[in-house]
Amino acid sequence: MKTKKPNLEILWKQLEDSLVPRLRLAVADRAAYCYLLRHSRLEGKPRLRFSMPWLAGGICLSSDAARRAVRRLIDQELLRLIERSTAGHVVDVRLPQEILAGLPKEIAPRHAVPAVPRINLEEEDFLRTNALRHAIHAREAGRCFYCLRLLTPPMKCIDHVVPRAHSGNNSYRNLVSCCRECNSQKGPCRAEDFLRSLFRERKLTERELAARLRALDALASGKLPPPLPSGMAPDNRSPAAPQRRARAVSSTPSKTP
Ligand SMILES: [Zn+2]
Repeated sequence: MKTKKPNLEILWKQLEDSLVPRLRLAVADRAAYCYLLRHSRLEGKPRLRFSMPWLAGGICLSSDAARRAVRRLIDQELLRLIERSTAGHVVDVRLPQEILAGLPKEIAPRHAVPAVPRINLEEEDFLRTNALRHAIHAREAGRCFYCLRLLTPPMKCIDHVVPRAHSGNNSYRNLVSCCRECNSQKGPCRAEDFLRSLFRERKLTERELAARLRALDALASGKLPPPLPSGMAPDNRSPAAPQRRARAVSSTPSKTP
């Protein structure tokens, strides 16, 4: 019995994109199925009579391996066994679309595109990786958070606004990019007091001081999130409670390039 030949492009996409990953077809099973499909449905015939040596030769496997593949294809209903004898097998070869129609939709494809790594901004330790440290530097756009001078790479370091000795953590709300000089002069003193000392030393104008104090408030209240490293996405599924953030302190030294 002849049937209409399937659209090859659609068939191939259904095979590669859906059937193989959803059924997790092994290489041998896939080869056997494609070969049988080629000699049945692509010739307009749903039914095929074949011998195991013929199939094995066609897909360059041993007869035993070909037989095991056929058994698995029958188990997975890609083939419907009509007759088995010493002369060979008679099977109905099913098209990918006929098999897919009967599969539950929730089976996850094995070859799905890997998920983008997600980070929870509020719980993340921004000294954990170089990419996260760079995100802090990127937020300050090349200027010292305190004295506003332009920084070259060797001048840059990361400072804990609230020092670790005072339970400051590694949250983006407590880390800033600054010059080594500010980092060393600030020491354990409060950031607000340090900014006022920069004003007294005429390293900041009155307007700059006011802007820096506002930036300090914005930082602590989470209004200055750093740009996420490329390839990462925010995880908004589990917002952190403030008390959990307070415990997110790591043992990383505070003066970190
Ligand atoms: Zn500085």
